[in-house]
Formats: sequence, structure tokens, C-alpha cells
Amino acid sequence: MTVHFPFQNTYAALPANFFARVAPTPVSAPRLIKLNRPLAIHLGLDPDLLETAEGAEILAGKALPAGADPIAMAYAGHQFGQFVPQLGDGRAILLGEVIDRDGVRRDIQLKGSGPTPFSRRGDGRAALGPVLREYIVSEAMAALGIPTTRSLAAAITGENVIRETVLPGAVLTRVAASHIRVGTFQYFAARGDVEGVRQLADHVIARHYPDLALTERPYHALLKGVIGRQAELVARWLLVGFIHGVMNTDNTSISGETIDYGPCAFMDDYDPATVFSSIDELGRYAYGNQPRIALWNLTRLAECLLPLFSEDKEKAIEEAQAILGEFAGKFTAAYQAGLRRKIGLFTARDGDEALVQDLLDAMAKNQADFTLTFRRLSEAAGDPASDHSVRELFTDASAYDEWAARWLERLAAEPQSPEERRNAMRSVNPAFIPRNHRVEAVIAAATTKDDYAPFEELLKVLSRPYEDQPEFAAYADPPLPDQRVMQTFCGT
Ligand code: AMP
Ligand code: MG
Repeated sequence: MTVHFPFQNTYAALPANFFARVAPTPVSAPRLIKLNRPLAIHLGLDPDLLETAEGAEILAGKALPAGADPIAMAYAGHQFGQFVPQLGDGRAILLGEVIDRDGVRRDIQLKGSGPTPFSRRGDGRAALGPVLREYIVSEAMAALGIPTTRSLAAAITGENVIRETVLPGAVLTRVAASHIRVGTFQYFAARGDVEGVRQLADHVIARHYPDLALTERPYHALLKGVIGRQAELVARWLLVGFIHGVMNTDNTSISGETIDYGPCAFMDDYDPATVFSSIDELGRYAYGNQPRIALWNLTRLAECLLPLFSEDKEKAIEEAQAILGEFAGKFTAAYQAGLRRKIGLFTARDGDEALVQDLLDAMAKNQADFTLTFRRLSEAAGDPASDHSVRELFTDASAYDEWAARWLERLAAEPQSPEERRNAMRSVNPAFIPRNHRVEAVIAAATTKDDYAPFEELLKVLSRPYEDQPEFAAYADPPLPDQRVMQTFCGT
């Protein structure tokens, strides 16, 4: 038996200037360290075969599976506001597309698989630490129910990569609805290639927004569609305390998935100004800035689409602005609805927005842990006598008490039982998130001791974020002062 991927490659059938044909660069001693077996099955792949030596060679980029049509995709992008007309897959190679058990087309991509024509000065490789980080955080996001690329496998290459120090090299197999980004549109737009923009837009509509193909103005509808998905996505990020860290336009997926886990992190104490990424010196991509940046990125997408809107430039700009103007309402609706659910409201009333905002303000002022506050609030909704566990998260507990009195009064206006409310809240307020100090500890064990037991255990806990899992209760704890991670790194 050999490993078989039922590839059907549509991106590689687009015009030759959309990508460069390039195969992974073989590595010396591939070893599979993790296979996502449930995901493999969902993709129609045989997990047992992927775990053989041949499977490891494929997943580390040493051997090419039959039917693969390996390419590096071309794209451009604004990085921290600066436009770079050519980025592209500098260390990733798309092997091909498969149709999953839900009928959804998914890219299978190797990340860290060697240089491509887009590598610029990079080595095309990835270090083990960032590969494990992406594996953990993307799978945690999926378990939280947030649209995201997935991780099918992590393999070490047997070769070192040189960063600030010498590190073990690794390859991540990433699965995505597609790897088309805002920056992919920018690549063609920057070259004045309107035909390229149109071909890309048609491909994206067929693949991600098929219902729009028959609408009167499909390209307008496409912009609307992407805006809707990004507004929803960023609201979901905020609702779990996620900070992407590098929201460049090349890291903004057209399908609406979270993509490119670099210096990403989950917040411990609630503070909208939180930044972890070492390279984000100005806080451009701070937690609370993410909605504004998403709109900025979508505005760049709109600029690319203008020539498809109308030959009359003024008219095209007016139409684009009207569509972009819908972002704020879409984001706010998703975010506020999510916040209402987080504090256990089943209905919407005047004053709810202020009620939640006052809680967030009190949390910020009192260094309350974001995740624990909402999780424990769920218990307090079930039994107000148990609210000491929430109070103790606030440096000044009276700030919580004042708020809680108003909250309980508001809850009393709804007919649901405390039990019903508690369960609803527990289903949206996770107990377990990939806390930075846990992720760092896992990476340290793997990198320095070749010990993957902590990695496996963390993945297991994070696969059921809304369940209590008493045996793993410590994973819900915030870092102790000396465990606190202050900065995260791209690691590229
Ligand atoms: P990222 O920060 O991962 O979103 O990457 C930004 C750009 O840099 C993309 O075009 C990547 O392909 C490229 N890149 C990042 N790391 C490397 C590397 N080690 N070798 C080559 N290209 C890289
Ligand atoms: Mg990127």
C-alpha cells in the first residue's frame, strides 16, 4: 500500500503567473512527531499509512505523493502598513487540494519545506518551536469553534535551521479552505493586471462564495462577503482574547479563516492595549486594534477590486466605500451579540452594551484574567453564592460587587433558569485556552529534551476547551508572576 491523496488541483490550473512550480527540497532524516488522525480521516486520508516511513517522508517534504502538483503561490502584501509588491510562498509549498467529507475543497500545504522562487533572503525553512506553536494554537482555535486553518501533521527534518541560535528544523502540514489572501489580489492589482484580478476573483467566488456567482454584481457581492466573514472572524477573536499579532494583508484570508500563526497569543489579564509580538513596536496589531486593522486590510482589497466594479472610477470608489461602510455594523453586531452571550443574556435590551462595557472596564482596571472571569461568571450565574471565585480575580473586589448587583438585576428580567443560563454560558466561555506559558513550556521540552509528552497533553486538554476536565484543572490557571510571557516572536 502506498499513501494516496485524492488530489484535484484547481489553483495549479490557473495561469502560470499565479504561482511558481517548485517541489519541496528533500531533507535528511524525516521523523513524524504528530499526525492529526481525526483530521486525516476527515480529509479522506488513511492515518495509518501517513504514520508509515513513507508518510513521514511525504509530510517532511522528502517524497512527493502521487497526484501532487506542487506550487508556491504568488502574493504581495502590506506588512505593518508598508506595501511589498512581491512576497509569495517563500517557505511553503501547496501540494494540492482534496475534497473533505463535508464536500469542502481543502489545500494541503507544507510549511518549512525549502526555498522557492519567492524566498528572497530566507532559507525556506521553519524551526520546530514555531511549528509546534502553530499546531497548538490553530487546533485550539478549531476546538473553540473559530474558523481557522488546521494542522494535519508536524515532522522534524533531521536538519538544523539557523536563527538567533541553531534550532531543529520542522515542517508543518497546513490545511486551509484556501491560501488566497488579500495580498494575492494585491499582487495582480499592483501590476495593473486587471485580467489577473478578475480571474482570481472568479476562482474565489466559485470556491468560497458559490452563491454569489449568479448575483447581478458578483464582484460587489464578493467584497461584501469577505467583509462579512472578516467582521465575524475578528469578533470571534476578541471574544476569546486572541491576538493574531501580524495582521498584514498577506495574512488575511479571503475565505475568512484565521491564517498564519506567528507571534499570536491569548491574553491573560484583560487589557485592550495588549501586544505580545516583539516586532509590533507601535502596537499596530494590539488586541483592541484588530477590528480597525481588519477594516484597513479590507479597504486594500476593495482598492484591488475597483476596476471590476465600474469603468467609471469615481463611481467604483463610491460603491466600494458604501460596502466598506457596512463593516462597522457587521462587526459590532457580532461582537455585541457574543458579549451578551458571554454574560448570559438571552435577549437584547437597551443598556446591555453599557453593562458589558462596564464589566470590561472593571476587568481592565483590576487586572482580571479574561478567560477565568467569564468562565467563573458562568458558575456565578448558576449559583450567585459561588461568586467569590470571580471576585477574587479583581484586585479590588468591590468593583466586581458593584457590577454584579446590576448584572443579577438584569438577569432577573429573563425567564431562563440559573441552570439553563449556566450551561449556555459554559458553552461560550472556555475554561482552557493555549496560555503562553504553557505553549512555551511545551516548546522548551520538545526543543531541548526531544520530549513531546507535554505537547500531547496540552493538545488533549485544548481539544475540549468548554469541558471542566478536573484532572487538568491547572491548565486553566493564569501564569504565576515568574511564568508570565511578555513577548512572542515570529521565529521566521
Ligand atoms: P510570515 O511572517 O510568515 O507571514 O511571512 C511573510 C513572508 O516572508 C512570506 O512571503 C513568507 O513566505 C516569507 N518568509 C518567512 N519566513 C521565511 C523563510 N524562513 N524563508 C523564506 N521566506 C520566508
Ligand atoms: Mg504570512
